[in-house]
Amino acid sequence: MPLLKGGRKRAVIEVDELAARKVFPMLRPRVIVLTNLFRDQLDRYAEVESAASYLREGIEAVPGAVLCLNADDSLIAGLADGLPNKKIFYGFSEKASHNVRPDPGEEGTRCPRCGEALLFACSSYGHLGHWSCPSCGLSRPCADICVESISCGESGSDAEVSVFGEHYSAHVCAPADYNVYNAAAAVSGAAAAGCDAKAVLRSLGSFERGFGRMERFDVGAGALMILIKNPAGCDRALDYILGSRGDFGLIVCLNDLDADGCDVSWIWDAGFERLREAGERLKWVIASGRRADELATRLEYAGIPESRLKKEKSAHRLIAEAEAAEVPVYILPTYTAMMDMRRRLAKKTRRRGFWEG
Ligand SMILES: [Zn+2]
Repeated sequence: MPLLKGGRKRAVIEVDELAARKVFPMLRPRVIVLTNLFRDQLDRYAEVESAASYLREGIEAVPGAVLCLNADDSLIAGLADGLPNKKIFYGFSEKASHNVRPDPGEEGTRCPRCGEALLFACSSYGHLGHWSCPSCGLSRPCADICVESISCGESGSDAEVSVFGEHYSAHVCAPADYNVYNAAAAVSGAAAAGCDAKAVLRSLGSFERGFGRMERFDVGAGALMILIKNPAGCDRALDYILGSRGDFGLIVCLNDLDADGCDVSWIWDAGFERLREAGERLKWVIASGRRADELATRLEYAGIPESRLKKEKSAHRLIAEAEAAEVPVYILPTYTAMMDMRRRLAKKTRRRGFWEG
């Protein structure tokens, strides 16, 4: 049970992955697509191993469901171990991975069957990669949907994808390799539902990015909103920002309402230190949201110079900063901050919600 500020105990809320064991038997899904397991807010999500066990319990109740699983994530692929469900695996080839070995202390680097430390031939990010157990022999399954190579640009990614042995070229209109993982997950889900692979791959190049997921707003010199809510997601957003060219400003907005997770300690596990790699390109950082004070402290510890760091709790003034900015701005909000900021920005840019057609 996570401990909150002041030593107060709070029961784990059964939402998200934790609800699987109750929701799966009720919905009886025909297809279940599982992407990855990374540490999330402790009070919403509990420990990664607990989330995996709840998912496994949910899956055991629906033996007829086709499982679409990320082969590169030992925690996800391990969920299928010994289960009778039909499985479709997706993942990156060795060439598409960055060949950076995960930190041995990282979650997901131990065998899901016997607990031995896994060996990695390559890794894309975090604990995702080509893993094998030297003790019991469990290893990454062969991927039915395999991303053979990726070329990521600022506006999208080009990928060579093999779908059950057939080779295709695809454009994914969302940048960053983690979105290519999401695309591969979508292709595997569509394949399980009997959709035509060519049509599904074509659709990856024509969807609109929305709801704070790499969503662009035409204000100031341009603003790009990337939702953050855990260290892994925040680190991927930082990867993308650091891989961009030119000067930029950064707004990080940390709320602590139920939908964000009340425990904001995860910001200490996110790699904000890497912002120093941007050097002079990083013109300014604004810490905002209900927990702007803690966030500003975190950013100070990360080495953001005091002269370039400020706090702004007013959402109204924050939007004014983005509008007045002379450099492109990246906005990294937690969930409820994203809802509020995108509503304000959408109103200014007369953008309709993507759900409004
Ligand atoms: Zn093992």
